[in-house]
Amino acid sequence: MAKKISILVPAYNEEKVLNLLYDELLKLFNRQNKYEWEILFVNDGSKDNTLSVIKELRKIDDRVSYVSLSRNFGKERAMAAGFDFVTGDCCIIMDADLQDPPELVDEMIKYWEEGYEDIYAKRRDRGKESWLRKHLSLSYYALLQKITKINILKNVGDFRLLDKRCLDALRQFGETERYTKGLFCWIGYKKKEILFDRSNRRAGKSSWQFFNLFNLAIDGITTFTTAPLRMATILGLLISLFSFIMLIFYLIKTIIIGDPTAGFPTLIIVILFLGGTQLLALGIIGEYLGKIFEETKNRPVYIADEYNGTKIPIKRGEPLTKNKNN
Ligand code: UDP
Ligand code: MG
Repeated sequence: MAKKISILVPAYNEEKVLNLLYDELLKLFNRQNKYEWEILFVNDGSKDNTLSVIKELRKIDDRVSYVSLSRNFGKERAMAAGFDFVTGDCCIIMDADLQDPPELVDEMIKYWEEGYEDIYAKRRDRGKESWLRKHLSLSYYALLQKITKINILKNVGDFRLLDKRCLDALRQFGETERYTKGLFCWIGYKKKEILFDRSNRRAGKSSWQFFNLFNLAIDGITTFTTAPLRMATILGLLISLFSFIMLIFYLIKTIIIGDPTAGFPTLIIVILFLGGTQLLALGIIGEYLGKIFEETKNRPVYIADEYNGTKIPIKRGEPLTKNKNN
């Protein structure tokens, strides 16, 4: 029996580009016609016609499947939904906007056949991006590498081929505070890197804004409840900085014109500095507390509304447990 390969495409407001993507994927399917194929779209609560475009595609081609989430959950959770619903022997995660070239898939399959289980594409060139975004993201990865023991790779996105075994592993992660890029590294398995040039978006616009990325860099999206804790962190930082400036100022002042009230500069510096660092430390504790708070609520990672035209039932009185939606 032919092996089945699934293409997992999270899509949020992508109506303009889906048909283009489908055409490109058809070319790929024709090249690799000894496999059985599936395209699984995860409609991540799109506000445009993405879902109807997908439904049209499914009408003409039954290799197209979709799962539609009940609202916008963000790409991380959309991917988690995808992992639960793909049916292939392996799965290729691909952005809807054709920034991940389907031509690369041939190479991925080649390595998969050689026995690699996680073949990820590393960007040689990052495509059209602002200078600031590029440099911030590069230094962020440098920092991440230093502080985590897991080697989270820079310039590697979510574009990759995952073997069934990796998918099974990934399905076990029920955490709601997801950083999937880290999970890919965490699970291990036989990895292979391939290089590619990331192209620009074909149509539509990126849903990532600078502050989105900023928040993702800290913990994903700042939730309503953890935001005040973050403010404590920032306040602490500002006060520490201010007291440091004061420190320099009083030091120089004391040296040059002397000190009429003995001990005052030292006192004020110590008070301000300690106050600042305490707030900073509290803020950091708060960050983690916020995460614990989110996880202890034990909410499902996502709510799937519909799979290939059938509404997904929610049994009354039985809590919708994580990853049990299918
Ligand atoms: N995406 C999603 N949910 C979201 C935001 C984005 O499923 O809330 C999908 C989007 O449709 C695309 C992929 O994630 O397929 C990457 O998004 P985008 O191109 O906007 O990000 P960028 O390429 O700028 O990092
Ligand atoms: Mg994109």
